[in-house]
Amino acid sequence: MELNKIIHQYQTRFQEKYGKRMTRQQTNTMQAVLDCRTARYGMMALDCSACDLHSTHYHSCGNRTCPTCQHHDTTLWLNRQQQKLLPVNYFMVTFTLPAELRSLCWHYQKTAYNIMLAAVKSTLSNFARNDKRLGADIGMTMVLHLLPAGPTQGVLTITLMFMSLCRVFVLTNDGINVRS
Ligand SMILES: [Zn+2]
Repeated sequence: MELNKIIHQYQTRFQEKYGKRMTRQQTNTMQAVLDCRTARYGMMALDCSACDLHSTHYHSCGNRTCPTCQHHDTTLWLNRQQQKLLPVNYFMVTFTLPAELRSLCWHYQKTAYNIMLAAVKSTLSNFARNDKRLGADIGMTMVLHLLPAGPTQGVLTITLMFMSLCRVFVLTNDGINVRS
């Protein structure tokens, strides 16, 4: 089943229950997905003089979260991100917002999520820096992931940390030694 059909079926009940708590961006996104490839975004007409074919196609919404029209762009984005990967090991670390704070974060999303991302960055950086065996600055990429309502509802940050084995070259009287 497609997402826009689910929204169409439950939109009224959903907005009655959650509409006042939704941000403008969330409302606009839901409407964009609902209206994707409908007359709201206009249409183009294709006519072929050679075979007398006539067809019409509605335009896409272009919303970055729309599964109807953004699959191609998403695939391109993923390919671009994969080209940026370094040839080292990556580790995935997940932080979950405590359930007691979810309501507060829902009302102050921008501030709360910025604090959460900063706390995750600080925690991982300090951990890596203070570790006796590691003692290094680490690189990371963070993604804020919002889980939908239900038993697993919550806010996660998913962090990709990359690390590599650093080889230290030490110049001594005996020549160059490699310390790993
Ligand atoms: Zn769309």
